[in-house]
Amino acid sequence: MSLVVVGSIAFDSVRTPFGERERMLGGSAVHFSLAASFFTPPRVVGPVGDDFGDRELAVLHERGVDTSDVERIPDGRTFFWRGRYEFDLNTAHTEDTQLGVFGDFDPKLSAEARATDTLFLANIQPDLQRAVRAQCGGARLAGLDSMNLWIEAARDSLLRAIGEVDLVFMNDAEVRMLTEEPNLVRAARHLLDRGPRAVVAKQGEYGAALFARDRFFSLPAYPLETVVDPTGAGDSFAGGFMGYLASRPAADVADEAEVRRAMTYGSVLASFNVEGFGTERVVALTREEIDERYEEFRSMTALAGSSPAP
Ligand code: AMP
Repeated sequence: MSLVVVGSIAFDSVRTPFGERERMLGGSAVHFSLAASFFTPPRVVGPVGDDFGDRELAVLHERGVDTSDVERIPDGRTFFWRGRYEFDLNTAHTEDTQLGVFGDFDPKLSAEARATDTLFLANIQPDLQRAVRAQCGGARLAGLDSMNLWIEAARDSLLRAIGEVDLVFMNDAEVRMLTEEPNLVRAARHLLDRGPRAVVAKQGEYGAALFARDRFFSLPAYPLETVVDPTGAGDSFAGGFMGYLASRPAADVADEAEVRRAMTYGSVLASFNVEGFGTERVVALTREEIDERYEEFRSMTALAGSSPAP
C-alpha cells in the first residue's frame, strides 16, 4: 500500500547531556519517513527553503523516500527547531522554533499523493494537517501526531484534525494536556470519543500504550544503555508503526495481532533512533538489525509461563 506523510522537514540544533549538534537534518516528516522506509517506500509532502541542499535530499533518496511532493521555495528558509534535554531525556525543552517556509505553506498534493491509501499527519500546524487530510479522501488508514506548541496555539483545529483520523500518536503528557484530564485512561477515552479508533500514548523510556474502545495493549521501551539524543523518537515510532501497517495490504486497526506487531516495530525503530544524534543511527540501520531487535522484544515481553502457577 502507498504511504504519504506531511510534517516538518527541518534543520535541528540539539543539546543533550552527551553532546550537541548544529543544523542537523531533522523534522517530524523526515524522522517518520526514514523509519517507515524499512517497510514501504513513503512519499513526503512539504516545503523546504533554498538552504535545503541536495545533500539533505540524498539522505531521503538513499532510503527510497519519494520527494516529488517536496517543494523548494526560492529565497525561503527551511523550518528550524532548537531544543535541549536535561538528564531526564523524556522531556524536550524547545528554545526556538522558526516556521520559515511552513508559515505560508498552502499544500497542493500531486495526483499520486492524493490517491494514497495510508496517510500520516506528522507534527506540524494542525490547519496544514487538515488541509492535507482533506485532499486524501480515499485514505483507508490515517494517523496523526502533535505537540504542546500546537495544543497551546491551535487547540480547536487540532481537536478537529483528531476527529478526522483513525490513529492518534501523542506523548502521554500531551494527551493529558490536550484533554485537561490527569488520568491517562480517561484522557485517551476523551480522544476516542472524538472519532479515532485508537490512541497511542508514547511514554518515552517507559514505552507506549495503545487504547482502543474495547482493548488496551502496552509495551515497555527497549532497555538501552546508550541513549544519545531522543529527538525524533516519537516520529520514528510512528514511522515503524504506520510503515509496517502500510506494508500489509489487509491490515486494519481492528486486527489485534497486526497492531501488536506494529507497536513492536514502532518501539524497535524508536529505540534505534535514540542511539545516535538526529538521523545518523537510522540511516545506517539494516533490516537484519531491526528483525533481531524485534525478536528480543518478543522474548523480553513473553510471560514466563502461559498461565499462572497453580
Ligand atoms: P519528536 O519525535 O517528538 O522528538 O520530534 C522531533 C522533531 O520534531 C524534530 O526533528 C523537530 O524538527 C520537529 N519539531 C519540533 N517542534 C516542531 C513543531 N512545532 N512543529 C513541527 N515539528 C516540530
